[in-house]
Amino acid sequence: MTTPRVDIPFDRYHDYDAMTEHLSALATAFPKLMKLQSIGTTHRGRDIWAVTLTNPDTGPESDKPGFYLDAQIHAEEHATSAVALYAVWHLLHAYGEDDEVTRLLDRQAVYVLPRINPDGAEYALQPPFFPWCGNGRYAPGEERETGLIPTDLDGDGYITTMRVPDPKGEWKKSEQDPRLMVQRAPGEEGGEYYRLYPEGPIRDYDGAHVVIEKPRDGNLNRNFPANWSNVEYGAFEAALSEPESRAVARFILDRPNIAGMNAYHTHGGIILRPSMTQPDETMPPRDLALYEEIGKVGESLTGYPTVSIYEEFTPDKSKPRHGGLMDWTYEQMGIVSFGTEVWDLEREAGVEKTAYYNLHPRDDETQAKVFAWVLENVGEHGFRDWTPFEHPQLGPVEVGGMVYIWTYRNPPPALLEKLCHDNVRFCVRHALAAPRIEIDDVDARPLADGLYEVRAVISNHGYLPTNLTDVALERELAVPVEVELKAGDGSTLESPATVEIGHLAGRNERRFPWSPWGPEWTANAVPATWIVRASAGTSLEIEARSERGGVARATVAVASAQ
Ligand SMILES: [Zn+2]
Repeated sequence: MTTPRVDIPFDRYHDYDAMTEHLSALATAFPKLMKLQSIGTTHRGRDIWAVTLTNPDTGPESDKPGFYLDAQIHAEEHATSAVALYAVWHLLHAYGEDDEVTRLLDRQAVYVLPRINPDGAEYALQPPFFPWCGNGRYAPGEERETGLIPTDLDGDGYITTMRVPDPKGEWKKSEQDPRLMVQRAPGEEGGEYYRLYPEGPIRDYDGAHVVIEKPRDGNLNRNFPANWSNVEYGAFEAALSEPESRAVARFILDRPNIAGMNAYHTHGGIILRPSMTQPDETMPPRDLALYEEIGKVGESLTGYPTVSIYEEFTPDKSKPRHGGLMDWTYEQMGIVSFGTEVWDLEREAGVEKTAYYNLHPRDDETQAKVFAWVLENVGEHGFRDWTPFEHPQLGPVEVGGMVYIWTYRNPPPALLEKLCHDNVRFCVRHALAAPRIEIDDVDARPLADGLYEVRAVISNHGYLPTNLTDVALERELAVPVEVELKAGDGSTLESPATVEIGHLAGRNERRFPWSPWGPEWTANAVPATWIVRASAGTSLEIEARSERGGVARATVAVASAQ
């Protein structure tokens, strides 16, 4: 039998129908390894797809540690969906060829949600191009009630920027290149100045101040239960009020075997880790250490450094982000959770990184580097020449500038495949760090005629402990490992069938050679014993169960005393 192959072009962005077609083709070509299901329906009636990948011959998905990967919760972040589709494609095609991938699908289950927000994504993929964020509850143009409504005024298929001559303006044309806009210095007078606004008409204009409302269709990644707050922009009516966040939450809650996760975003070229709301000093030190260790693997494979959202990605510490998915899965489920922000236009253009979340205006030199790169690699899809336009409320303006969604937010499609590959390889390594329960040794020692002591050693062969994180222990979220001897025909148990053995350490605990000043080591292998009455030759089954570390089974045959 020849190995099936499905060709998917990864040098372009796929709309919803194309993505659905590719997923269906993969599911048809790999019916054993892949399951495709809809986990919910959006406001505009689209299915939210979920993919499960595992080799069922080695056990059902629920008996294996799971890894969860999702993409495009934010409408405009098209590169993320490419990463997720590539993950499905790569894992299926590398299975049997690549040792790590083969091990992953044999021993574990991988869950991929390739496009959480398909309604918003579809708006953001079709002209007029604009960085939409919402989820389709409101169509573009309906998401604001008053003030400036982002609209393609000049009909070129892009919603860009208006530069409006104004003596009060904060901006001026760069002396190096009049297409670039730079900030006017404090105290500076005597030049031609401008104000910059998104392209669009102004409803209820008072002739003085241009109101720009925050869109009321929100941000799905503020709609999760952890620290949900109604004062956060984009939080919606209540936690899990939206069909997409509900579907995601249900999917995760129904899979208590999930041991690791990565949610994909653009942009910045960084791997984000918790917390969204707290400084690192409040995180359990062992959790911080394991985030740093796994994060280093991520950096070596992707080139992206790993940083805390609160410490290094929150410009105003008095305004932390609430209701994020990653805080929910880490703080309230104890899952090791990352959020990767793929793509960094400035780094690609040769600009030195000075901050991970950088809202500062860029100087002439930085803008010129980025602009030259965009003209060469994206062309007019990335920059629209400034064009005079008679604005219905503001009079003569110019419309043009950088097309944010196809420059800063998403790479040119030719760069996608490598970005996808590197990021998926990090997922593979992170997934393989899961705890993994094994039954190392079993024997049945005769005590008297027909009476035996059965002993099994239950071990964790994984990098992470069976509780995954200390947060899971502190909040009593982690389910202890248990092991059961199943007495069948010809045997009777004289001791309890199920033995609770607590949690088993992972390799991550022993990062240094033993020292009396170092942290205490805990057991990663524990014996369990039972007393059983059985006739010689009876076969007994032992099953060890860890919620996050999988299920292991072994059999032992009792023999009569010599
Ligand atoms: Zn995002």
